[in-house]
Amino acid sequence: MATLQFLGAAGTVTGSMHLVVTGDRRILLDCGLFQGLKALRLRNWEPRLADPARLDAVVLSHAHIDHSGYLPLLVRQGFRGPIYCTAGTADLLGVVLPDAAHLQQEDAERANRHGYSKHEPALPLYTVDDAYAALRLVRPAGYDTTFPVADGAAAVLRRAGHILGSATVELAVGAVRLVFSGDLGRYDRPILCDPEPVPAADVLLLEATYGNRPHPPAAEDDLARIVRDAAQRGGVIVVPAFAVDRTQELLWMLHGLERAGRVPALPVYLDSPMAIEVTEIYRRHPEDYDAEMARALGAGEQPLTPEQLHIARTEQESRAINAVRGPAIIVSSSGMAAGGRVLHHLAQRLPDPGTTVLLVGFQAQGTRGRALEDGARELKMLGQVVPVRATVARIDALSAHADCEEILRWLGGFATAPRKTYLVHGEPDGCAALADAIRARYGWSVRAAEDGATVTL
Ligand SMILES: [Zn+2]
Repeated sequence: MATLQFLGAAGTVTGSMHLVVTGDRRILLDCGLFQGLKALRLRNWEPRLADPARLDAVVLSHAHIDHSGYLPLLVRQGFRGPIYCTAGTADLLGVVLPDAAHLQQEDAERANRHGYSKHEPALPLYTVDDAYAALRLVRPAGYDTTFPVADGAAAVLRRAGHILGSATVELAVGAVRLVFSGDLGRYDRPILCDPEPVPAADVLLLEATYGNRPHPPAAEDDLARIVRDAAQRGGVIVVPAFAVDRTQELLWMLHGLERAGRVPALPVYLDSPMAIEVTEIYRRHPEDYDAEMARALGAGEQPLTPEQLHIARTEQESRAINAVRGPAIIVSSSGMAAGGRVLHHLAQRLPDPGTTVLLVGFQAQGTRGRALEDGARELKMLGQVVPVRATVARIDALSAHADCEEILRWLGGFATAPRKTYLVHGEPDGCAALADAIRARYGWSVRAAEDGATVTL
């Protein structure tokens, strides 16, 4: 008899982790950190898994930190088994895990400097060394090929279309076929393939991030209008950038709009070492591309490279952008302007009414991105109060997550109904709405996963 236990992302959208036990074999699906509100982040410090050294293997759906960021801690706790994922995910982990460790170490150092930790001294959740120890256990696997995970368990990874390397996981344990959706991507979006259908599952573990929200239609028209306006005014567009996927999609769209003659080719400054590295990784994985991307490459185009792309790797190159006059586009991290190089661009450009700040993703409460979205007239950053005279624009359609209708479309690929469907990676409202929609459309047996609960497969 095999069991499945929900160790995270149950009733919430971070901390993805699920334990499959069959006989004396133990396999972990995803190994993510909790993120966001402090009450959730504190859960990263609690033991989540009895005896990690006894785990046989981890199978990862994709490289986002809420699905992979607990790996260094798992290794610190004694895990030595293989970590299976796609080649694209393996490459992205090489960037995001050391980065996550750096952030943990910086947090601890800041807490020690300001003395606001309960612990003396404050310790990081894990270190860069832990991240590299985890990376040494990574074993890339190809798409659509069955590979052994442990005695009596085998897996198949299929394209999920969410970010580079993202996959759905089919895990055969004994006679039971468990399918884990990971995070599903959107249909007909640039660069990546659509989510690949899965023919059958006995038990389905399904994400519900956007279970109750439809996405607005394509973003190209909005982006074209914003770029043309800025070009006319001679202004600068500052884009606080998410390094993984959002930046590459933006570069792809700019390239396409320029080729179609819909926008003038402005200088584009990519000012984020992580986004630069991730863009290089995107260039190295044709196995993830959709037909449109493959066709553009086949025609000799460089679809992730707008005509006038400038790369800023060093601090010095980043500061040199301060001398740039508009029209121009500056893409710089972090995505919610919580920190990073985008701060010095905002500090310089926000007082200028000719500037446009373009927000391309969800802005969490308490971040500068959110304050801008909410119409703040001034912002504190880098030890100064900066007046906001710039225009703030938003493009919502760049989400990498399938919405409710797209999830239902993917479910339509199953030839028969799974015996049981459990919803994970969703807020309670999103899970309830998606469960209703699945019952109404397909009549399946579906319920939200309960945090910590164990179910029989
Ligand atoms: Zn994700």
